[in-house]
Formats: sequence, C-alpha cells, structure tokens
Amino acid sequence: MLSRLSSIAARRAPARFASLAAYEDYGSTVFKGDVADAYLKKQGSSAELLNDPTWTEHSADIVAAAILDWAVDNGADSYCHWFQPMAASGVRHGLTGQVQNKMIEFDRVTNKIKFDFKGKDLIRGETDGSSFPNGGLRATHTAGGYLAHDTSSPIFLRGDIVHIPSAFVSYYGTALDEKTPLLRSNEALNTQGLRLLKALGYEPKELVANIGLEQEIFLIPREQYLRRMDLQMTGRTIMGKDAPRGQEMCDHYMAAMSTAQPALEAMQEMQQECWKMGIPLKTRHREVAPGQYEFAPLFGTNTTQIDQNIMVMQVIEEVAAKHGLAALLQEKPFANINGSGKHNNWSIGTTDGINILNPEQLSKASGNDNAFAVVMSAIISAIDTHGDLMRMSIATPGNDFRLGACEAPPAITSTYLGDDMTNYLEAFKDGKTGAYSPGTKNMQMGTRYVRPISIPAEDRNRTSPFPYGGARFEFRAVGSAQNTSMVNTVLNTMTAQKFKHFADAIEAGADPIKVAQDALNDSWKVIFNGDNYDEANQEMLTKNGLWRIDSAVEANHKMVDPKNIALFEEMKVLQADECHARENVLHDHYTGTVEMEALCMIDMINQHVIPSCKDAEVGPVSDLATSVDTLKAAVAAIHAAETPYEAATLARVLRLETMVDIREFCDAAEGVVPADLWTLPTYKEMLFLD
Ligand code: ADP
Ligand code: MG
Repeated sequence: MLSRLSSIAARRAPARFASLAAYEDYGSTVFKGDVADAYLKKQGSSAELLNDPTWTEHSADIVAAAILDWAVDNGADSYCHWFQPMAASGVRHGLTGQVQNKMIEFDRVTNKIKFDFKGKDLIRGETDGSSFPNGGLRATHTAGGYLAHDTSSPIFLRGDIVHIPSAFVSYYGTALDEKTPLLRSNEALNTQGLRLLKALGYEPKELVANIGLEQEIFLIPREQYLRRMDLQMTGRTIMGKDAPRGQEMCDHYMAAMSTAQPALEAMQEMQQECWKMGIPLKTRHREVAPGQYEFAPLFGTNTTQIDQNIMVMQVIEEVAAKHGLAALLQEKPFANINGSGKHNNWSIGTTDGINILNPEQLSKASGNDNAFAVVMSAIISAIDTHGDLMRMSIATPGNDFRLGACEAPPAITSTYLGDDMTNYLEAFKDGKTGAYSPGTKNMQMGTRYVRPISIPAEDRNRTSPFPYGGARFEFRAVGSAQNTSMVNTVLNTMTAQKFKHFADAIEAGADPIKVAQDALNDSWKVIFNGDNYDEANQEMLTKNGLWRIDSAVEANHKMVDPKNIALFEEMKVLQADECHARENVLHDHYTGTVEMEALCMIDMINQHVIPSCKDAEVGPVSDLATSVDTLKAAVAAIHAAETPYEAATLARVLRLETMVDIREFCDAAEGVVPADLWTLPTYKEMLFLD
C-alpha cells in the first residue's frame, strides 16, 4: 500500500524543472532505431537490416530472436499480428483485430516451458477471415484469412504484447482490411510519381506520402458516461437538451486547462504513454466545444502514422478511464455544439526529405522551375475528377451530423489555394511559366514594443474541405473516429492516376507545361478560396458542377461507380469484387450504427423518459409511446430490405428524419420534468467537469 501511495505521489509531484530525462524512455517500446540496433547487433546484424523489406524472406529468424530478447527485457511474453479489419470508423474497439499468442513453447515430454519465437511466427499468421466484415468476399466455409507483416510500420510493444503491424487478406489475396489497399496505393503513388518526376528531369529514389493526423476528442466524467447507454453503446447522445451554456462565449478554444480538473493530468499521461511507443504526440489544447480537446503528432509516413493514430485512440480511451473520465471519439457526441474531426495533413516527399509539395524545395532539387506547377496541376485535376471518392472516404455515420453544419466543411469538394498561389497558377495556365516563390507579408502591430514579424502571404481557410497550406494539403472534413486508411488510399490513388496520365503524355512527346495547362483549364472550377459555409457560395459551386454528395449513403455507393472501379483497377489498388465488397461493408456499418442508435432510443424512452414524465405528471407520454412503435416499425423495415444499399438508405431516413423528430419530444420532456425525477445525465452534467 505504501509503495502504491508513494508512486502516486511521485507521479503527481510538481516538476521543478523540465529535463530530457523525462523522455529517456521515448521510443523504448518500438523496435526501430537504436533500440532495434542494440538487439540486432547481439544477433550479428544491425537495424539497417530493417530498411529493406526483403528481410522477411532471408533474415526473419534473426529479427525474431532480437525481438524475443527485447520483449522479454521489457516484460512482454506474447505477440499478436495486429491488423485493421475493414471498417469505416470505430467507436468502441472497432478498429483493430489481434489474437495474442505466448512466445513460449510447452514441451509435452519434459512438461517444461521455454521462450520460443521464430521467424515463421513473426512474418505471418492465419486467422478466420469470415467473422470480420468482408462484404461477401468470404463465406463461412471458405474462411481462411492471412496475416503478413507490413514492414513499412514498426513493430511495437504495449503491455505484455509485441504488436506486429500486418496486412490481412483472404486465401485468394483479396484485401480484407484497411491497410492492404493503402499499401497498394503507396506503390502506385511511388511508381507514377517517379515516372512524372523523371519526365520533368528529377530522379529521386523513392516517394512516400507523409501525413499528420490531428485528433479531436471529448473527455467527460466517466460516472455520467456509464449512466448513458447511448454514449456507451453508440458513442453519441441520441437525446439530451442543450445546456444553458454552449459555445456562446467562444471561451473554450485553446483556453487554459485547469489543474483542478482531471483532463490535463489525463492528457499528460496519454502523451507519456505514446512517447514510450515512439509516437511523437507533440501538441495538446482545448478545442471549440466545452469538454473537447485535441492532440496533434509530428507527421510521418502514412502507414506508420495511421497505425500510431489507432494506438493513440486506444491509449486515450484507456488512460481516460484511469482518471475517472470517458473519452468520446465519435464525430458528433452532442447536438448543437461542435463535433470532432481528424484533420488529415498530406504531402508527398522523397525518402531524402524533399517535399514535392513545397515549391522552393522541388525547384531546387529538380532544377526545373515548372515542376511544382505541373505537380499541383495533377493534384487539382485529381480533386476535380475524383472529389466523389474523397467524399466517400469520409462518409462515416458520425460524420453525417458534422459535415456542413458550420463546424466542418460541407459535402462539396473544392480546394483552397489562397490568392497568392491561385494567381501564380492562373498566370502559369495563361502562359507565364517559371518558379513560384510564396510571398510573405510584413506584419506591423502598431506599437514599437511588439516588433514587426514576417508572415505568409496566405491566410487560412477553415471552411475549405481540402485547403493547401504551404507545402501540404489538409483534408479537414475527415471524422474523428475514422481509420484514415481509405482517406489516404483515395488521395494517393487519384493523384497517382493523374501522375500516370501526365507521364504517359509527356513520355509520348507532349510538352509538360502544355499538359499541366490543359489540366488546369479543365479543372479550374474546383479551386475556391471563399467561404464554403455560405449557402450562396454552396449553390454557386453546385451549379459549377463540383462534386456535391449530401448523403453519406450515396457517397458510399460511389465506391462502385464505373469511373471509380476503373480508377482502382487501373492503379492496381482494388479489383471490382473488392470495391463491391467494400461498398457492402460501408452500408452494413452505417445500418448497424443506426440500428443500435434506434434500439437505444427505444430503451431510453421506455426506461427513462416515459417513467420520468409519468412521475412528474408532465410531458407527452402518449406521443412517446407512439414514437416507440414508429421506431420499432422502422427497424423492422430495415431488416426486410433486400440489399445493404437499400437498408442503409432506409436507415439514413430513420436517423436524420424520424429520430430527429422523436428526439424533440424527449428534449421537451427533459425541459419540464423536475431535475430529481430526470434519470438521465444531462448535457450540463456531462460537458462541464467543474
Ligand atoms: P493546424 O492548426 O494548421 O491544423 P497543427 O500544428 O495543429 O496545425 O497540425 C498540423 C499537422 O500537420 C501536424 O500533425 C503536423 O505534423 C502536420 N504536418 C506539417 N507539415 C506536414 C507535411 N509537410 N506533410 C504532412 N503533414 C504535415
Ligand atoms: Mg488542422
């Protein structure tokens, strides 16, 4: 008891000075860099071995021995192939799969045990593929699913388990997961990007997509969370009257984090947990809504960054619980205040560290002053052609309540480039070629005590779904609960296709500048620097023919549009059957979410709202009873639907029309029932920690 108390005291003791000693264990539980090097050296090798993915074919036993050694030193004796079954988003454990195996051999003859972990255990695994969402790719009697280590993302330890990031495919090699298509899209981006750059006179070794995933969350008192079955089952409140205070004062965003609340301490511990695993979670702050917070990491290559983000989400949930909090990762846990997103910052870089979306770096590295304009033209053209797929990639059930609600960009796909860049590309398009050097502006504050500073000529535009922010695009419409693999698969694939078409034309003799100018002329309409929240602008953009898909179900249906199947096939990212399977999984996910929400609503009305109204002798009890019948009938109609698409279409109407109407009765009842008779935690009790 004493030691437990003293360790708590040690953790809570105010730090008197900052010291890098606190970071001594940064990366100690990820098998890369110096950590891997030390253990591989004991096996006569070095961390360099891991740079070439073919190590799984010739040196798996060496790596396995080093990993076993490292694991045991860190108190771990189990391993799992850690994979990401097909899923659009995950509220409650939905994002990864794992079977935890002991790294131990049990000897039948001597009845003794010893540590044992071989190369063959490390590089592949097998599991039952039919119990995961597979969209019809697997039947129960042909269930084999294979797991193979993804060498682009490092192996790491958490608790007593070595996590081996893995791709998950069927016996026939079709992708059953989120990672495999992403890895294939990386191949396409690399191949076609290198071709285009070569045609522009620049020959780097390899291209990678770098991303940085900002993660928004809510932290609420756990006690209240456990008394709300809607939050616990579905991640969002199905009913609940607004608290008297919302975002009226704009006083939450980046506000101080009170030490009187457990949130700050919880976030500090979340960061420390992540640092151990080498996850560079750098930034933390309060977000716009009460009870809302954000973390942002330093960016990295996409597979690693996505694996890390998924682990960040898990750590957030686990550590929150230790501090008496519940972390909500769903996109719209509360009505009438902001929901949560996950900005997906995206750029393309060489493995030598040149960012080809940085105009000055690309000009210098390639010696071609027009290379940047050509690359940007390809991306702009890709947004114009495949904006429907970008919308598909963010069409999660939770995001349905967020997009266009003046907190996230609308369901219209455009890109903001800023006036400076737009003017440059306009001139380029019209014949004035040459390098772009981003302008800067000297900012005067009107007092001699604050000296002038130099700032970018571009302002920010937070209403745009996909703004360019100087050296990177930021996909701002992504949902907080998402595995962003499909988002990045789409960005890479659509860009790779345009890179390919540009390279094809140039290799066949076309002038690169002319190719880029033509593409810009064709897709100029997709550039929009104004206010995307403004309805008149939305109408104008719709009229101009930009992709606009308001319904998430229709967006998901775009997965099988002939244009899109052709894109995925051309880029060897997904075959037609994989696209169809994925569409089914997306619809099933949507429908399943709505069904859980409807069933929660029925229980909450029957078990809480009606009894409270009866006790208080107020409220629309008969309307509520009728509502329950309506909900039951709607769920039955969804079950009777013939296809996943039809079921999802019905589910969307149930959720966004019927349930919204019924919620009004419930919230009105909450407004008149005396507090001591209202049995559900209120928005006030959930959103304000003190
Ligand atoms: P903002 O307020 O502009 O959204 P943040 O600092 O909160 O900025 O987050 C920006 C995110 O973008 C971070 O995760 C950062 O590492 C990432 N990022 C910065 N530059 C790049 C880049 N070139 N490619 C990909 N991600 C980047
Ligand atoms: Mg951002």
